[in-house]
Amino acid sequence: MLQQTQVVTVLRYYPAFLQKFPTIQELARASPSSVLARWAGMGYYSRARNLHRAARIILNRYGGEFPQRYEDLRSLPGIGRYTAGAILSIAFGQRYPVVDGNVERVLARVMALRGDVKAAPYQKYLWSLAGQLTSRRSPSDFNQGMMELGALVCLPRQPQCGLCPVKSMCRARHLNLESRIPKPRRTKTAQYLHRLAAVVRDGRNRVLLVQRRDEELMRDFWEFPQFDVPARGDPGRDGRDSSAFLGRSLHKRFGREFTISHPLCRFQQNITFRRITVQAFEAQLNGEVGRLQCDRMPCRWITARALKDHLFDSTSLKILSNLQNR
Ligand code: SF4
Repeated sequence: MLQQTQVVTVLRYYPAFLQKFPTIQELARASPSSVLARWAGMGYYSRARNLHRAARIILNRYGGEFPQRYEDLRSLPGIGRYTAGAILSIAFGQRYPVVDGNVERVLARVMALRGDVKAAPYQKYLWSLAGQLTSRRSPSDFNQGMMELGALVCLPRQPQCGLCPVKSMCRARHLNLESRIPKPRRTKTAQYLHRLAAVVRDGRNRVLLVQRRDEELMRDFWEFPQFDVPARGDPGRDGRDSSAFLGRSLHKRFGREFTISHPLCRFQQNITFRRITVQAFEAQLNGEVGRLQCDRMPCRWITARALKDHLFDSTSLKILSNLQNR
């Protein structure tokens, strides 16, 4: 859970997750959708899928006993060098290093590394250095101490050097370079997107949902039919052009005619470096409802009461909450 997510956020999910899946066995035997349901809202869902797959492998390959060999851990889905080091040192007291963003900053400053610490040669050096420094007696305390030092004292912008237990050996401090190390990286340029969504009703108080099938982006999650408008030809804020685009996109996906009636909501959503403007419209299917077909993804009509039994992508969750607050 802590991969890519802050402790304060994880704490909102961790107790409920552990209560639902208190053992590897129970996690392994759960359905993928029930695991994702307990993860919903935290994002980066590939972590939940990896955790679930790892639990199944541990049950089948290791008889339910968590493996304690580095190579075995690395063979599990979702466990890279950092997570393997953290588990082996903190949970099992083995001497393996961890280098996260905090440790990286501390080491880069102590050694006064002036280059791009994310570059491969620096990473190799930092991991090797951390490996040599890691305490034999208490690798767990050492690794946690290094991570805390970076998180609480050796801060990215204003390092608290006066409080630092390693200030006497810190080369960046001696050279007065602590604010310039590590060298700042150029952040990824924001990408602006315009997304149109349709809340299609069938006249029997049901709405149309489609299920995502793409591996990376929230596979198996349900959503209101939605379409990203290509940058060229973006209808922008013009409601008429947006509804025409949405009507054409629905027709292309389902092979049926839809009437787009009126705008429902509009909001901004930031997902990593993407700045997404979402506009949702009310829509109706023309003619007989019958059985809708969509070749790219499963689709179904859902009653308002059954909505809570479905896992939604974040855009559709916001649309739902907008609808409920109207
Ligand atoms: S002395 Fe300052 S820059 Fe050096 S490790 Fe400590 S907090 Fe970081």
